[in-house]
Amino acid sequence: MTEQSNARGGECAGSLEPADWQVFRKQMHDLLDHCLDRMVNATEHPWQSPPDNLISVYGIGRGGDLVARLTEQVMPYHSGNTHPQFWGWVQGSGLPSDLMAGLVGAVMNANVGGRDHGANAMEHAVIDWTRRKMGMRPGASGVLVTGTSQATVIALQTAKMRAVPEMRSKGGGASLTVYAGDRVHNAIRKAVELLGLGHNALRLIPTDHGKMDVQALVQQIAQDCADGFLPLAIVGTAGSVDIGSFDDLNALADVAQARNIWLHVDGAFGAWTRLADDPWRSLSDGIERADSIALDFHKWMYVGYDCGLALIANEAEHRAAFAVRPPYLEGFEAGLSGGERWFCDYGIDLSRSNRALKVWCALEMFGEDAFAAAITRNCAQAALMADLVQSHGMALVAPVVSNICVFTARPDLSPQEQSSLNRQIAIKLQLDRGPVFSTTHVSGITCLRAAFANHRTRDHHIHTAIQNVKALAENGLLANGE
Ligand SMILES: *Cc1c(COP(=O)(O)O)cnc(C)c1O
Repeated sequence: MTEQSNARGGECAGSLEPADWQVFRKQMHDLLDHCLDRMVNATEHPWQSPPDNLISVYGIGRGGDLVARLTEQVMPYHSGNTHPQFWGWVQGSGLPSDLMAGLVGAVMNANVGGRDHGANAMEHAVIDWTRRKMGMRPGASGVLVTGTSQATVIALQTAKMRAVPEMRSKGGGASLTVYAGDRVHNAIRKAVELLGLGHNALRLIPTDHGKMDVQALVQQIAQDCADGFLPLAIVGTAGSVDIGSFDDLNALADVAQARNIWLHVDGAFGAWTRLADDPWRSLSDGIERADSIALDFHKWMYVGYDCGLALIANEAEHRAAFAVRPPYLEGFEAGLSGGERWFCDYGIDLSRSNRALKVWCALEMFGEDAFAAAITRNCAQAALMADLVQSHGMALVAPVVSNICVFTARPDLSPQEQSSLNRQIAIKLQLDRGPVFSTTHVSGITCLRAAFANHRTRDHHIHTAIQNVKALAENGLLANGE
C-alpha cells in the first residue's frame, strides 16, 4: 500500500478517520507549506482561465494523492481576488489570519445556532466591536451571516415586524413601500421580493452624482401616504457598488425619524470608511443613526469568504422578528443548553458556522489600526488611479469619492465604440493574467471600473495597470474588429 491509499482507507473498512495519523500529520504539514507558499507568493498567481475539462478532473471517485491534487488541480484555479492587481467588482483579498481560523475552525466544527460554548461568546464580541465602530448605541444586536444580501433580508424583515407585528402570524404586506436611490444594489430588490412585497414596492428615488435626492424622497413618501401605502423603510447606501458614492445619511435619518420610518443602511463595503482617515471617514457620517446596517467583512475588511453582518439597533425588535423555539431547542439555566442569546433567534439559520473566528483572528493578529491604514490606503489608491487616468489622456466618468474609480479609455470615440473598447480591454487584460478590472454602465457607456478592497495592492501595481490600459487603448483593439 502506498502512503496515500493507506491514509485514505485503513484497516477498518468504512472508517472516516485516517488509518495512520502519523501519515496524515505529514500530509497536513506538506499541505500547510503549499498553502503558505501560495499566500506568500500571491503576486505570482493571478487568475487564469480554468481548463475546459475541470468538471471531469474533479469527478468524484478518483482518489489519489490528495495533497498533490489540491496543490496542482485545485489551488491554481482560484477566482483571482488574492492577487494584488485584482480590482474587479468589490471583492476582498483574504488574509493570512484566515489560515489560522480555517484550521482551528475545522478542528472545533462549532455549530453557532445556540447553546453554551466559546464560538457564541466570540460572535458576541465581534458584533459588539463592530457596533462600537459604527457608533451604534449599546442595546443593539446582530447576527453574522453569509453576506450583505442575507443581512438585508434580516434587517428589512425586522423592520416589517416592527411596523406590523401581526404579520408574523397573518402574513401580508401588500401596502408596504421601501425607498432607495435608483442605483441601489440588487440585493435590496431581492430582499423586497423575498419579503413578499413585490419589487414594485421598491420606490427608486432619483440620484444626483449617486446621492439620493432627498426632496424627491420626501415627495414620494407623501404621495404614497396619500395613496394609502405604508412606508416601511428608507434604504441609504454607504458606498454604491457602481461608483462608490454615499447617500447623505444624516439627511435620510432626519426624514426617517420625523415619519417613524425604519432607516436601513446598505454599507456592504462603504460602512468601513468608519475606520478610514478623513476625508473618507466622514462619507459615512450619520450611519450611527440607522435602525439597521448590513455590511460585509469579506469585502473591505479583507476577511475570507463568507462573512457579513446584520446589525440591528434594537435587540428586542430584532428578537421579536425571528425568535421561535420548539421544545427540542429549549434553553436551560445550566449545561450545554444554557447560554444567553442564541443566534438562531436572530436570523434565518439554525445551524451556523463560526464566522466570527475569521474576524477575531484578523483583528487580533493585525490590530484595528492596520485595517484603518489599509482602508485609507485603498481610498488613496483610487484617487491615484483617477490622477493617472487623466494624465494619460483618458477620462473619469464619475468623480472618485471612496475606493472606486470608473473611467473610459478613449473619450474621443463614439459611445458605442468606447463601450466595445472598454469591454475588450477588460477581457484582454484578464486573459493575459494582468490587472483585473470589471465594468459598469455610466451615461450609456460601458466603462472600466476598479474597486480597491485589496490589502495587497501597492501604488506601482496601479501605475503599471494604467500603462497597460493605455497601451491597449492605443494599439487598435477596435480596428481589429475584436
Ligand atoms: C456586495 C454588495 C452587496 C451584496 O453583498 P453580498 O455580501 O455579496 O451578499 C450589497 N450592497 C452593496 C453595495 C454591495 O457592494
